[in-house]
Formats: sequence, C-alpha cells, structure tokens
Amino acid sequence: MNHDQNKWEQRWHPLWREWIVYAAHRNFRPWNGEGAPSPSDAPAYVPDCYLCPGNARIHGHRNPDYNDVFIFDNDHPVVGMDAPIIAPVQASVHDGLYTRRRADGIARVVCYDSRHNVSLAQIPCEKVARVFLAWREQMREFQAIPAIKFVLIFENKGEVVGVSNPHPHCQIYATNFTFMHVERELAAAADYRRETGRNLFAAVIAAEQTDSIRIIAENEGAVAFVPFFARYAYEILVFPKQRHSTLITMADEELYHLADAFQQVIRRYDLLFGFSFPYVMSILQAPVDGGDYSDYHLHLSMQPPLRLPGLKKFLAGPEIGGGNFMADTMPEEKALELKNTDLSTYRECD
Ligand SMILES: [Zn+2]
Repeated sequence: MNHDQNKWEQRWHPLWREWIVYAAHRNFRPWNGEGAPSPSDAPAYVPDCYLCPGNARIHGHRNPDYNDVFIFDNDHPVVGMDAPIIAPVQASVHDGLYTRRRADGIARVVCYDSRHNVSLAQIPCEKVARVFLAWREQMREFQAIPAIKFVLIFENKGEVVGVSNPHPHCQIYATNFTFMHVERELAAAADYRRETGRNLFAAVIAAEQTDSIRIIAENEGAVAFVPFFARYAYEILVFPKQRHSTLITMADEELYHLADAFQQVIRRYDLLFGFSFPYVMSILQAPVDGGDYSDYHLHLSMQPPLRLPGLKKFLAGPEIGGGNFMADTMPEEKALELKNTDLSTYRECD
C-alpha cells in the first residue's frame, strides 16, 4: 500500500460549502524554514511614496505629518459617493436580465505607521492593537451611513500579490452590497443553525481546538489555525473567542487579544520564510445594514500565495475555470512548520 494514500483526499469546506482536493504526492521534505528575517534595508522615509508623511498625493492632496494610524479617502476609488449616475433607461435591459447600478460607496486607505520600512509583524503589539482600534472606529462611522451596507477591510501585502508600494497599509471598501464570501458564510450558518440548532463558527472553532494540531496561536481572547479545509498552503483563520458579528461590538481588550494572535501568525510567517511574508488578509464581518446577523462570527482570513520560497500557488483550470481548489500540501504539515518557528527569535522594532 502506498503511504501517500493518506495524503490524497477531499475535504469539505463547511463555511463555503465546497470541496477542496488534496494531493500531496510530491511530498516535499519537512521544511524547517529560514529563520528570523533581516531588518529591512529600505529607508523609513521615501520622498516619492504617496503614503509617507508630508508627501503629495495625486489630485493635489498632501499627507499630514502623521505619526499614528493615518486614514484617508482613496484617490482612485473603486466605489465612491460621486460615482456616475446610471440613467433609468440603462439600469435594466433585456427585460431585467442585465442590470446596472451606481458604484457608490466609500474607499479608504489606512496607513499603519508613518515609517515606510516596517510591517505589522515588526512593530510592538500595542501599535498593532491601535490599528484594530482604528478599524473599529471606521466600522462605527460606516454603520451610521445609510448608503453603506457592508465593509471589507483588507490588506494586500507584497509584490507577489501585486502591491507595488511597500509602505505598510490596508484598504477599506464600504459598499452597497455584501461581498460573496460573507454571503456564502451567512447562508451556510443559517442552514447549519436550522439543521443542528448550533452555531457553525463555534462548531468549527471547537473542532479545531479538539484536534489542536492545526492551531498556530491562542490567547485568552482569540485563536488562530490553519483550518482542516485550508485552500492555500499557509491559509489561516483568526477568530475572537467571543462571537461578534463585526468589530463594532468588540471591547478594547478583545481587540488587543485579536491583534496579538494575528501578530503571532504573521511573525511565524516571517520566521518560516526568512523575509517579510506576502499575504492577502481580509476581515470578514457581517453586513452593517441593520439586519440581524447574530449568528455571524467575524474572523481574519489570511491567504498567502506562496507554497515555498519563490513558489507561488498559481490558480488555473480547477480554481479559475471550475471554481474548486486543488492543494498539493496538507494543512497539518503546514501548521506544524509554522508551529516549529521560534517566536522568541523575532526581532521587533520600536
Ligand atoms: Zn512610504
């Protein structure tokens, strides 16, 4: 019997209700990682960076000389309150089959730090928590705006995910529609509640805590794990332990715990790869349209594109064409690699 057989299976993603196919035949050697990354040799201030303090952006805006979290409306918004009006005659064509509407909403940029050459992994946890507090304030503001139904906070980090400016920042899209992944999770949670009487997210967290082998970080208020059903090799979900549908209701202390668990994750990423590790991070939260979403449990979703140094997961026929993920690594192995990194060797800056 082939010993690889137990690394060839399909797993059900209970939140998105899709199959992931794992075929880890190529069986890379256990990887011990690269160790602590060297400090960046990029300067703390870059004169032509549009995010550095005091610099000019396009359209004549100039950044203040900030030294805390700095937030501004995106100069190239994907959604905006001044998006063109759609004429009624254009709004619905082909007997309603094809529909258009205004791309209204608010798009913002959040600069985490005034320094061009630091990341959330490198700065003290207190400063990461300040970013989480700022996100919560943004959520409170958006909740009060009737045109805003949903808010997606996300960070694209690294050139491999297409980010040309390394200045530490994320984006916020406050929209008139709910993004698909949250739509899917809401539907899955509602069905699970109807079928079992239980909360879907609590069930997943409990399962991960029981299995325990995929947990990467845990503290009093938050837990992070490579889920049983990970699509990307180093995919991680970070949950606050108490159920909150959005950041709005989270206490300062809970946000601090969430920031701490998140930072442990990204430090382990850096330690394993030996450089500032690229990822797509999104905060999945319930809509802010006044509906009852008490069964939704917000979480941070980390989806790094790399499988090994220099080796990116390319989405191709199965993923782009068919819509299901094929993975050639097992979540348990990737979790073990991350757990084996030594957090005490991480070199923090001020
Ligand atoms: Zn900069």
